[in-house]
Amino acid sequence: MSTIFSKIINKEIPADIVFESESILAFRDINPKAPTHILIIPKIEIAKVTDIKGSEHAELLGQMYDAANKIAENEGIAEDGFRLVINCGNNGGQEVYHLHMHLLGGRQMNWPPG
Ligand code: AMP
Repeated sequence: MSTIFSKIINKEIPADIVFESESILAFRDINPKAPTHILIIPKIEIAKVTDIKGSEHAELLGQMYDAANKIAENEGIAEDGFRLVINCGNNGGQEVYHLHMHLLGGRQMNWPPG
């Protein structure tokens, strides 16, 4: 089922896009939890981590990590470090069922997460 992120991919609703390729889109989170909070998503609809198939999606996942590194560099947070988070399902705290990687940085992260 399509989510609000499909509307962002299709440019039907606005987003602060920081990176785009043929297969990946990245934009600033509307409710940031850190000075830098960017969502990196595949353009194809994968609802959640448990829908990932290594045989099918390995290249796409590699591209998501490449995008994260490039964006972290552009945002000036690569050297100090950052956190990548993917929430999965109810207990994981997932709200939008279109796979997305949170790129969080610009402050010290805590552990364990809430
Ligand atoms: P999750 O809880 O992992 O599913 O994260 C969903 C994230 O999407 C939250 O951090 C929201 O703030 C963010 N979000 C929801 N709608 C939008 C939107 N229209 N533009 C940017 N970020 C959004």
